Amino acid sequence: MPPDLEDIELKVKTISKRNPAYTEIVQWVGDLLSETVKASDSEEFNLPELNVDQEDLRKACTQGRSFLNPEELALDWEKVSALYKRLVELVGKREDGRRQAEGLLKAIEEKRNGTPAVVKAALASNYEAIEASAKAFNIDAPVLALLLHLSLRPSLLLIAQAVLEHLDLSLWNHGHCPVCGSAPRLADLSGEGGKRRLHCSLCETAWSYPRLRCPFCENDNRKELSYLRAEKEEGLRVDLCGRCNNYLKTMDLREIAGPIILPLDDVATWHLDIIAGKNLEDKGKVLLRAT
Ligand SMILES: [Zn+2]
Ligand SMILES: [Zn+2]
Repeated sequence: MPPDLEDIELKVKTISKRNPAYTEIVQWVGDLLSETVKASDSEEFNLPELNVDQEDLRKACTQGRSFLNPEELALDWEKVSALYKRLVELVGKREDGRRQAEGLLKAIEEKRNGTPAVVKAALASNYEAIEASAKAFNIDAPVLALLLHLSLRPSLLLIAQAVLEHLDLSLWNHGHCPVCGSAPRLADLSGEGGKRRLHCSLCETAWSYPRLRCPFCENDNRKELSYLRAEKEEGLRVDLCGRCNNYLKTMDLREIAGPIILPLDDVATWHLDIIAGKNLEDKGKVLLRAT
């Protein structure tokens, strides 16, 4: 079940307590996220038709083909755009929000075949295109990316839930999302021995994946896998791969309260992105061997 308003409120409080520096930003993202949950409760986001052939699906799972290509999804753009505009209104109420709000509205005006080009870029995880658009309209790229993700979220979560009814996740052992093919954005460890699950950056589907394997390049050479911990923070770490130079933020749910709520947990671990970025610039440092 996707998180409800109470789950969001609780998560915002937990994060603020764990790391007070994030209080203001998680409160704000929590408000935006709550708006998307209210929208999905009150309006019917239509589910596009899903073609399900069980035999083909089984084959696709073993070959690592995800169920759908998000760029080809026929979503209800009017509803997605209406939610985006509501979120922009909330942004406009913030200090310095009016300037951002104007640019954010302009950013979705450019359309290709009836779909805003930046929405397509968000579906394709094309962050460069989002950054270019943010620059053109003088807005902050992370804010544009967040608003695009949040306005697509109700539709994508609905689709992911429907798809998961047909998928046997035990057949899936790849590093990209079984539903939409996007890369993971976070991982968690839970249960005895700390089994790892990855969380999709786009549709937020979670699936199991071996701990000692890089989900981006499938490297399982232990000598090239390492991790870093944030100082004085139990349960948070960044897993790094020395072969492809990608990293993944990891939350140990045996030490930190779950469940993961991706838009909030992602924002509340920005310092890990910074640590990982610095580490990649500063290669050759001795790292902790992955376990
Ligand atoms: Zn996905
Ligand atoms: Zn790798």
